[in-house]
Amino acid sequence: MVNLRKVAIIGCGFVGASSAFALMQSGLFSEMVLIDANRDKAEGEALDISHGLPFTNPMEIYAGDYDDIADAAVVVVTAGAGQKPGESRLDLVKKNTGIFKSIMPEIKKRHFEGVMLVVANPVDILTYTAVKYSGMPESRVIGSGTTLDTARLKYLMGQHLDVDPRSVHTFIIGEHGDSEIAAWSSTNVSGVPLDDFCEMRGHHEHQASMKAIAEKVKNSAYEIIEKKKATYYGIAMSVVRICSAIIRDEKSILPISSMMHGDYGVDGVALSMPSIVGKNGTEGLVPIHLSDEEQAALKSSADVLADVIKKADI
Ligand code: NAD
Repeated sequence: MVNLRKVAIIGCGFVGASSAFALMQSGLFSEMVLIDANRDKAEGEALDISHGLPFTNPMEIYAGDYDDIADAAVVVVTAGAGQKPGESRLDLVKKNTGIFKSIMPEIKKRHFEGVMLVVANPVDILTYTAVKYSGMPESRVIGSGTTLDTARLKYLMGQHLDVDPRSVHTFIIGEHGDSEIAAWSSTNVSGVPLDDFCEMRGHHEHQASMKAIAEKVKNSAYEIIEKKKATYYGIAMSVVRICSAIIRDEKSILPISSMMHGDYGVDGVALSMPSIVGKNGTEGLVPIHLSDEEQAALKSSADVLADVIKKADI
């Protein structure tokens, strides 16, 4: 039986620990178990984060093992190596699919009935791996996908247009990585078409500005990793946002990664498209408009992922 107030985090490095800290402050859960191959790391993080509890909502936070995930509502998997300066997400394939192939059978043995949220990179390849080796229904295995990239895009658009990023409605779609696509043709600011809003705010070089912003989003992780070795706060907030959609059965439309079966001409890979997210994971895709150019770029992004899956022998 699923305990809607319980979350488990597998992997307590920068991303797992930051997500745990953000989840503790969110008030979404009353029980959180931290699991890591390095037990001391999980125990240390559980203690450190617990010491903040007197300032927020009561919660039980502890280091545990796979038996503790059985009744969790959400399992967040961040276990895996991160990018080193200059490495792409796809450079992590061999190491991290290996880690996933060891973790998924453990989850399978526990008959976990909640939603699995894959965060480790390359997130689309690992979402595919998780579907294949966990034995779980596809709809309950989702990746954080381009939720973070979309947040980065909204933030930069907000800065550019001097407007609250929450009023910018846009998505990064496709791979969470170098082939990702900004879906400009469906972007608007509170219902006002993007070009009109830009004009309103005194920006006239639409094409050049949008291209520069999309490039900056794509290169954000490289820039941060170069400066401080890892990225973790933005993804931690993305984890909270997705967990909130699941736990509250919000049916929020988020660009999570999930298995594709023919929509937009993409089949047999996991990648990000806007999806309805609720207590059962993804309820399906939302058919946003794509221009011919965006549609072709999405197909190329899917081809990149399909090629990795084929070569990596997952
Ligand atoms: P990290 O090295 O700090 O932490 C990884 C943790 O995983 C370590 O504590 C390690 O002990 C643990 N681990 C390794 N193998 C394990 C196993 N078999 N079982 C349990 N725990 C295991 O790395 P990080 O900076 O926290 O990044 C983690 C992952 O998240 C990376 O793959 C990184 O690229 C990814 N990431 C994803 C996003 C996103 O948007 N999806 C954003 C940032 C980072």
